[in-house]
Amino acid sequence: MHEDRPAFGQRISELVELGVIEFRADPLDTIVERRLKTIWEERSCPHCGADSLHALNGSDRIWCGRCDWKTTYTRWTPFYDSELTPGEFLIAFILYADTLLSITQIAELLSPCYTTLHDQLREFETTFCRGFPTVWERISQTVDGPTQVDETQQVCSGFKGQDPPREGLDRGGSPEGGRTRWTGDQGDELTLVAACRDVLRVVSAQEGSDYEDDLGPVIEEADDLSQPLGEVWTDGLPAYRGMEHDHRYVVHDERYVSDEGVHTNQVECLWSLLQPWLAKFRGLSKQGLEQAARTYGFLRSLNLTGAPIHGLVDSIAVNVLR
Ligand SMILES: [Zn+2]
Repeated sequence: MHEDRPAFGQRISELVELGVIEFRADPLDTIVERRLKTIWEERSCPHCGADSLHALNGSDRIWCGRCDWKTTYTRWTPFYDSELTPGEFLIAFILYADTLLSITQIAELLSPCYTTLHDQLREFETTFCRGFPTVWERISQTVDGPTQVDETQQVCSGFKGQDPPREGLDRGGSPEGGRTRWTGDQGDELTLVAACRDVLRVVSAQEGSDYEDDLGPVIEEADDLSQPLGEVWTDGLPAYRGMEHDHRYVVHDERYVSDEGVHTNQVECLWSLLQPWLAKFRGLSKQGLEQAARTYGFLRSLNLTGAPIHGLVDSIAVNVLR
């Protein structure tokens, strides 16, 4: 009856509804401030080009010692001009990307209005995906072994590129009745393609449910992030057979591990985590779905490497302030 209930997070959802969870964001505010100020001090002045930017202690100011240009340390980041403090914002993003709590439930926890939080998380997500490769390059030491690639059809929905109407979204509170999964126009289908190599998780999306194209984008991206790519393991879909890359496949319907030990278990596992996470949105636009899936993959990569929380902060800040 309640197949759509989350396998993880049900009890936490109840605690949110009861209003028993509160956050103290101060320690995170401090971490974000320290990281952002460090990144500012490493870059040159956007006004005069001198390497003389200073972060002032006990103040939000960033200040150029040469031309006197001034700004605030959150400038050009998603933290700027937000009704949430940087720490609260980070908490919101972690709850969004790393749990099955809905955005509505997260808004209830942190109490800004839904639209604001939704828009801010989207912006945060874009910035995170853009910054991830730079941070990944710095933190990842060894990404080794075969790259497993697999795809899954995602029946997404969208009013031609728009986000779902809000009244159609899960309000989080009523498990019985009142829940309607928003299904937009027909034909808005995506194929998610994931590449898993060691601790790296790259998720990409292609329009449509047909799988005619090559695996170009996701393979290239995985290659960039874990050079050299090495062997690619996939299932036996025709699309994969035309691949130019050094490549072996396992045919799924027959067995899950080939005689040579080839399998796609890592990526199957990723799907089993990603699907319930995507389900919490109860409908996403195409762009929204692709970006959400990418975010999930990248955050999972950071989690699997055991990257500290400032790795996450850096992913958000590193390119913005460049
Ligand atoms: Zn200057």
